[in-house]
Amino acid sequence: MTMHGVYNTKDVYEKVVSRDPGEKEFLQAVHEVFESVKVVMERNPEYGKSRILERIVEPERVIIFRVPWMDDRGDVHVNRGFRIQMNSAIGPYKGGLRFHPSVNLSILKFLAFEQVFKNALTTLPMGGGKGGSDFDPKGKSDAEVMRFCQSFMLELQKYIGADTDVPAGDIGVGGREIGYMFGIYKKVRTEFTGVLTGKSLNWGGSLIRPEATGYGSVYFASEMLATQNKTLEGKTCLVSGSGNVAQYTAQKILELGGKVVTLSDSSGYIYDESGITPEKLKYVMMLKNVKRGRISEYADKYPKAVYTPLDGAMDHNPLWDHKADCAFPSATQNEINGKDAINLLKNGVYLVSEGANMPTTPDGVDLFIDKKILYGPGKAANAGGVSVSGLEMTQNSMRLKWSREEVDTKLKQIMKSIHKSCVEAAQEYGTPGNYVNGANIAGFVKVANAMLDQGLV
Ligand code: NDP
Repeated sequence: MTMHGVYNTKDVYEKVVSRDPGEKEFLQAVHEVFESVKVVMERNPEYGKSRILERIVEPERVIIFRVPWMDDRGDVHVNRGFRIQMNSAIGPYKGGLRFHPSVNLSILKFLAFEQVFKNALTTLPMGGGKGGSDFDPKGKSDAEVMRFCQSFMLELQKYIGADTDVPAGDIGVGGREIGYMFGIYKKVRTEFTGVLTGKSLNWGGSLIRPEATGYGSVYFASEMLATQNKTLEGKTCLVSGSGNVAQYTAQKILELGGKVVTLSDSSGYIYDESGITPEKLKYVMMLKNVKRGRISEYADKYPKAVYTPLDGAMDHNPLWDHKADCAFPSATQNEINGKDAINLLKNGVYLVSEGANMPTTPDGVDLFIDKKILYGPGKAANAGGVSVSGLEMTQNSMRLKWSREEVDTKLKQIMKSIHKSCVEAAQEYGTPGNYVNGANIAGFVKVANAMLDQGLV
């Protein structure tokens, strides 16, 4: 609070920078939210008085632990495990686990921070958390992945539970990993509860959970298009990634009459000008989920598609340099930089729906907002995944199972309601059409009010 009683978000941000100077991704996420909520802080002095911003950037708890495991040759490895319990103002901590060599405290704190606002937008009672490890499941045998997951969960189980903290999957953590972690949790705790979401269908999983993030991102895109009386029918779409989110994004785009021309992994991308058909997508799912192969093999099987290796040293990603109407980044953070954003706009893209978390760098985001394209930020557009995780928790508590249609209908309603909240908050706070401000403000206000109600905790 300044002398005149006007809250200065810049000062609070500077304090975060000085406290965690090396946490690049976390600071990026905090900066964006602070920019959006500046006006909220000005209009609501009670948030400043209660130091909501200072409290919301500080995780309630961070757990870091050693994960030793043995490979198939008998060699011992040590990875680092994390769980960020960021905010429990509106419900138990909820958020995925990521297994990827790039995982560090900054990346998980950014993901946990985003998760808090995302979960608030879903209309369901979930707090925010995130976790994972710098373990790389790529190239490991099933037995190695199992031993790692068991070692990881032996420690993590001390801190989680169906009413405390409910992790799910994220990059590198799919049905296989969730199964191994659930198995050891059940054995150690002697309880069969909804402690993890993304479980298999025959032991507590929800229908539509695997599809939910991708489907949700396309539903959100459809809602944005509807504001301009458009649909996905006949639209050419760029999709990045080829994992869980990318696969079901592509599937739903095809179902709604759109055309998908790209997919990628961390080694490269394919461009299939004639379009990825349902049959070709089925092959991709087998390739990535069963064979655990690389996207380059798509071009071997369908020689008309062009494979381009991606080189981390390039100043842009050529995947985003093709003629298209819509883009669905669905791989990882910061995969669209300023130059990519310029290329997208130059190629005619007027809608970006983020399946991935924070896939666009700040200069890219500014360009999308300046040009007033339909830009759905991850914390709104990809909230379908955690929403159906929330529905999985509900079904587990009730010990019953909803049909595919029931879950899909609820998912659609939730995405519609998230879209509406974003539009209304953006309008109310003076930036109509700006989904970044809309999502940040709507999520923030809900969490901030709960924090006010619950006192200084
Ligand atoms: P998967 O592990 O299933 O797939 C990730 C895909 O992205 C793979 O194709 C992977 O390629 C690629 N990728 C990963 N890291 C990089 C990198 N550093 N550079 C380029 N490509 C990369 O993960 P998901 O599909 O679950 O997650 C994708 C994104 O969606 C993430 O940002 C995640 O946080 C977000 N998300 C996921 C949700 C979910 O329900 N799963 C919910 C909400 C958001 P490779 O095979 O080479 O690693």
